[in-house]
Amino acid sequence: MEANKELQFYKLLEQLVALTQIVNEEPETEKIESLLCELSGMFRLSMGESHFYRDPQNEKNGIGETSICFDNGKTGVPIHTVRFVTRLMSITTMTVYMEEDEAPLTEDEMYKVDIIMRTLLAFVSRNKLQTLAEELAFYDDPGFRNVRSFFRYLSWNSQPGDLSNKVAINYNLRHFALLNEEYGRVGGDLILRNHYRHLESLIGNNGAIARLGGDAFVCICDQTDLPEVLDYLNDATVLASQDGKTAHVSSYAGVFQIPDGYTVRNPGDIMNKIMNAYQLAKIGVQGNIVFFSDMMMSAREKTSRVLKMFPAALKKGEFHVFYQPKVNVETGEICGAEALCRWFHEGKIVPPIEFIPALEETNDICKLDFYMLDKVCEHIRKWLDEKKHAVRISVNLSRRHMIDPELVKTLIDIIDSHNVPHEYIEIELTETTTDVQFKDLKRVVQALQSSDICTSVDDFGMGYSSLNLIRVVPWNVLKVDKIFLPLDEESADSIRSVMFKYVIAMAKNIGLECIVEGVETPAQLKLLRENGCDEAQGYLFDKPLPIEEFEKRLDMMKYELPDM
Ligand code: C2E
Ligand code: MG
Ligand code: MG
Repeated sequence: MEANKELQFYKLLEQLVALTQIVNEEPETEKIESLLCELSGMFRLSMGESHFYRDPQNEKNGIGETSICFDNGKTGVPIHTVRFVTRLMSITTMTVYMEEDEAPLTEDEMYKVDIIMRTLLAFVSRNKLQTLAEELAFYDDPGFRNVRSFFRYLSWNSQPGDLSNKVAINYNLRHFALLNEEYGRVGGDLILRNHYRHLESLIGNNGAIARLGGDAFVCICDQTDLPEVLDYLNDATVLASQDGKTAHVSSYAGVFQIPDGYTVRNPGDIMNKIMNAYQLAKIGVQGNIVFFSDMMMSAREKTSRVLKMFPAALKKGEFHVFYQPKVNVETGEICGAEALCRWFHEGKIVPPIEFIPALEETNDICKLDFYMLDKVCEHIRKWLDEKKHAVRISVNLSRRHMIDPELVKTLIDIIDSHNVPHEYIEIELTETTTDVQFKDLKRVVQALQSSDICTSVDDFGMGYSSLNLIRVVPWNVLKVDKIFLPLDEESADSIRSVMFKYVIAMAKNIGLECIVEGVETPAQLKLLRENGCDEAQGYLFDKPLPIEEFEKRLDMMKYELPDM
């Protein structure tokens, strides 16, 4: 090759190398193409094409993507092929062509053409791998965008105001299992895909959509597209087979309207909000599409905070037993007490309403209840050993325990481990609403009774009271909720007064012990006595007391009853 041409070649090659090395920017395709045209002219080449195969199998079967690298508009025969195999086993090849009547390449020319081809192949291969990596990272198998792509969208839009006028939605197709049954797996897949594609087209370039898995999706759309999107989520007609069958598809959806100037501190923020709203939508009380409100979050956040702190708090002994005395209405004698939990946390006493409902969302409440029973037994044992006036103590058990087949055994093991006679323990249980729970409740109460452990219906009248529950389950005690207790100024023929009278009469007549909770005034105590109720519990006597205070009451043995 003459010196001039040689120099020209190296200049062009240098430019090609520079252009094909650029990463993180769109490649300058036009410039590369014009370089290639010039280079191919130098070597009398008519055409160059490259192939990309995802794996050797595809290469064998000829399934790949072909792209033309340069084409000088002439035909020709292949004269040289270069093949690249990457570590991921994807394969890129490049072949150059030359017209048959052209002078063949010299050895030096072939060497130079080979360099050009390898430079180009490295470039093609890298670009293809990048596309492949994106597909693997941001799409799931059947071609839905995945949650990573959704998070990437959020992090790209993380500046204040980027998401103004946008709405985030978490939705699930309703009864998708039934659709799958009706239309078969293939039909089900088709429904999913068509539903997704339609929403994708509604959202356009103004948002993002992704599948979380199964029939669960998230999306972000413009506020202006929201009515149409929600209409579609509420009721869509979707193609379910190639031959034109359609299915009606509706969804449960949680919606968060992103406020102006909102900053995405962490993509999980938005996700949490739409998930919470979605959970409510699924329960269905507020309809199948629920908008997120801040109130919802603070309750959720509180719950997760409590659940997070609970294990350490239990270990550190932050939960304490307080005792509220139960008093005989005729004599003022202390005939029992209810154990109520108090959480001593960071110098404050947290009342049960702040943590019991949160713990009831998981089985943590069961751990707390067993802990309380254990402490109560420890205290009773101590009182018995000290020859104090020990009384029967009632312990609250959450309904969550009812499905535990080992429950009664665990309770008895705890009591027996402290060597406490069973008659000192009473278990308070609340009413239940479903048949299944009802059966479990009956089984538990029966088993406790046959082990001489007392049971009481707590908060009778508060929930969905069922007289059947009282008839069928062998309770010992009926604890009438303060909701039934007439106020001082209330007349004797008010509905509450009448109900109060008959509830106590019913309990007495079927042989149940009867106690009323929330007794606050002497007049209320008088009402209990007049109606033949046995016991009272309430602020009139004492609030729930720490153990040292309660022990003083035990020493005192009875309260002075007020003049009535
Ligand atoms: P509960 O079992 O019905 O307990 C009675 C509640 O009424 C107690 O509230 C008590 O302090 C309150 N009370 C007692 N006398 C009066 C009164 O004269 N007036 C008024 N206004 N209230 C009175 P507390 O201690 O806040 O407990 C609330 C609920 O938390 C309990 O209701 C019980 O359901 C639950 N709880 C407390 N400790 C435990 C526990 O260890 N395990 C479980 N599972 N639940 C517990
Ligand atoms: Mg109770
Ligand atoms: Mg109660």
